[in-house]
Amino acid sequence: MEDVQFVCAACDKSYEGNLKDVMTECRVCGRIHCKDCVDEHGQCVECADRKPAKK
Ligand SMILES: [Zn+2]
Ligand SMILES: [Zn+2]
Repeated sequence: MEDVQFVCAACDKSYEGNLKDVMTECRVCGRIHCKDCVDEHGQCVECADRKPAKK
């Protein structure tokens, strides 16, 4: 059996199991992050940090 595993690009945590629930693509950089690292606007923490939120 293969272990399906996903490592978040931002927090470096690894996840396995229900990945669809956890993986979120950043709208800005297109990298895959865990839900914890993507805000409500679909930006990962790194992008949100770089670009101050504006309308
Ligand atoms: Zn993360
Ligand atoms: Zn990003």
